[in-house]
Amino acid sequence: MKKIWQFGILAMLGFTFLLTGCGSNNKVENNTLKVATCADFAPFEFQGKDGQYEGFDIDIIKAIGKEMGEKVEISNLGFDALVPALQTGHVDAVIAGMSMNGERDKAVTFSKPYYQSGLTIMVNANNNSIHSFKDLEGKTIAVQIGTTGATEAKKIPGAKVKELNSSADTFIELKAHNVQAVVNDKPVNAYYMVESGDKSIKRVGGQLTSENYAIAVKKGNTELVEKINKALEKIKADGTYAKIYKKWFGVEPSAEN
Ligand code: GLN
Repeated sequence: MKKIWQFGILAMLGFTFLLTGCGSNNKVENNTLKVATCADFAPFEFQGKDGQYEGFDIDIIKAIGKEMGEKVEISNLGFDALVPALQTGHVDAVIAGMSMNGERDKAVTFSKPYYQSGLTIMVNANNNSIHSFKDLEGKTIAVQIGTTGATEAKKIPGAKVKELNSSADTFIELKAHNVQAVVNDKPVNAYYMVESGDKSIKRVGGQLTSENYAIAVKKGNTELVEKINKALEKIKADGTYAKIYKKWFGVEPSAEN
């Protein structure tokens, strides 16, 4: 009889242990914010020498995760695979220099904006015929697939638009003179010019669009987007955002950002 009791207690302990074990596993899982990006968009997201993810967006999402008490796990996808990754539930959030727009609003829920951007043109340094978006009519233009740059370039009358996988690929195509221009986000073009010291290409014209970058979550996930917004507000108020901004852009954020 005593034996049976002992066995019973041991079995119960074991069962409880198993349950707690599962419980804590779930907790780790729940405390991880799974984030997708497209790490080819410096200075927002790129891979450092050892393959680590770096950039303004990466620092911002890590700071947001810290505020939320969540570990941030980053995965690297093609830009056009980011929205589907949210829709299928493979990731919880996307941060990828992604501009808020009406089309995407139908597919995802956006956080409050965290960076103000827009599109600009890059041409070869010896190009003297393209000075503005109007001059792009009938020209060949390289863009990154699935981006606002691609959407806008396709609206230009007579333009032949080449959609490539990354913004780095668009610069390569331009330098090889396979296209006459690149339409891409202004801060990415500017960072490329400064970091590469490349004198073979130049920026021309003004800014075509005014776009706001925001973090995307699965359509209707208001609980998560509210947590992200609260964390974003907190890091803006406590100076963390300004510190990260200064680290990547060398200046203090302006009022809009
Ligand atoms: N801001 C642009 C967009 O949202 C480009 C983003 C990117 O290439 N990472 O389409």
